[in-house]
Amino acid sequence: MEQKITCKFGGSSLANAGQMEKVRSILEDDPARRYVVVSAPGRENGDGEKVTDHLLNIATKGNHFRDQGKDITPKKSFDSVTEKFSRLVNECGIDGSDLLAGLKDDMNSSIDNEKRIDFMASRGEHYHSRLICRYLQKKGMHAKLMLPEDIGLVVSDDFSSARVLPETYDNLKKLGALDGIIIIPGYYGITQGGDVAVFSRGGSDLTGGEVAYAINADMYENWTDTDGIYQVDPRLVSEAKVIPRLTYKEIRLLSSKGFDVFHFDAMINCKKRNIPINIRNTNNPSAPGTLIVSERVPEETAVGIARLDDVAYIYLEKDGLGEVIGATKDILNILKDHNVQTYHYPTDKDDLAVLVDQNDIVSNVNIIREEIEQAMDPDVLEVFYNLSVLSPVGIGMKQNPGILAQAAAALKNEHINIEIVDQGPGQISFHFGIQSYYADAALKALYRSLIADRSAVAN
Ligand code: ASP
Repeated sequence: MEQKITCKFGGSSLANAGQMEKVRSILEDDPARRYVVVSAPGRENGDGEKVTDHLLNIATKGNHFRDQGKDITPKKSFDSVTEKFSRLVNECGIDGSDLLAGLKDDMNSSIDNEKRIDFMASRGEHYHSRLICRYLQKKGMHAKLMLPEDIGLVVSDDFSSARVLPETYDNLKKLGALDGIIIIPGYYGITQGGDVAVFSRGGSDLTGGEVAYAINADMYENWTDTDGIYQVDPRLVSEAKVIPRLTYKEIRLLSSKGFDVFHFDAMINCKKRNIPINIRNTNNPSAPGTLIVSERVPEETAVGIARLDDVAYIYLEKDGLGEVIGATKDILNILKDHNVQTYHYPTDKDDLAVLVDQNDIVSNVNIIREEIEQAMDPDVLEVFYNLSVLSPVGIGMKQNPGILAQAAAALKNEHINIEIVDQGPGQISFHFGIQSYYADAALKALYRSLIADRSAVAN
């Protein structure tokens, strides 16, 4: 049977005409690459702001950048987006005057409220896909544009975090019967009421995953600007290598800081149909990248180490707490009411702690404290700040005794105190909470002990 590959190209993969040429050649290299999802133009060489951020700034009348402490007016954003698209049109040598006029009209749109934000945010992907399609046609490729509004990519009306509705899959299945290269803008869909609604940020990955699922693709290639998923953040450990193969479960556990190359929700449906996801580098297409699969042979113990910063630790102690049924629920409910992300809940007989995202309690820690005092009347209630959680992950850890001891010894040798230890119940990950100022040194020590030294022995 004919192979079908869905490819998603990220913003940096398509930031200028040189990049588009690389994409063209990647598509030409394998005729199975026929379902192409594109992001809005990204930053070039990591500089400046993304087109989507400029569009959000226009839609929110400058609040988007103001909230980030950046002095960029909506007018400046309008000019940046116009300039970016004009340059792309010129560099690609296509006739794009209608695209530029349409983009300007849309940026001046008078739609208001939340619908305005989503409509505006989607324009990067919308116009970029139209531009790329023309570029590929100009280069002699049989490319066709399929917009979410044309193909029935129907989403819920949860603006800014829309979800794909089930009818979409039947609608998209029809794409499987089309010939040529199908170009689809990522990140947005159309609600049942006919409005544009976008997924959460990075949502073009999600469009790619949904298209791959609907057409039952043989592979979902996610083209980005790194060689794949690294064992640890390569900015901190320069000798870190790309992981060749990971299971869906492992990538889920690693998906925190340093591993955020891929939108998690994009994987859910691919996993249901066992569609492998290949993370590849547009700037280095001969590199095999990282393959995410259902099952793999565990050739090592820890395959990677994730790191999560900005963690706070809410600790409480109360005589007799161990006998109170539902004590953990009380504190978790308070945190839920304040929309605080929680991570781990180490408990003992009369004390318990919850690890939370420190950024979520910046403005309300005093209220949260008061509510916990009132609900639980603890003898001690303390909040500790600036922790990092380091999490070695790997399906091979389950059968191998002593990995946790080996990791603890590596930190002991560096005189790094472990404040929290928690082993995941699946036994394929464990978590050390340490003071953030040790995190770089701790990550290096764990990498050396669990990953580098092991590969040296294996070689
Ligand atoms: N352009 C959108 C964003 O910047 C979606 C994406 O790139 O995946 O979040």
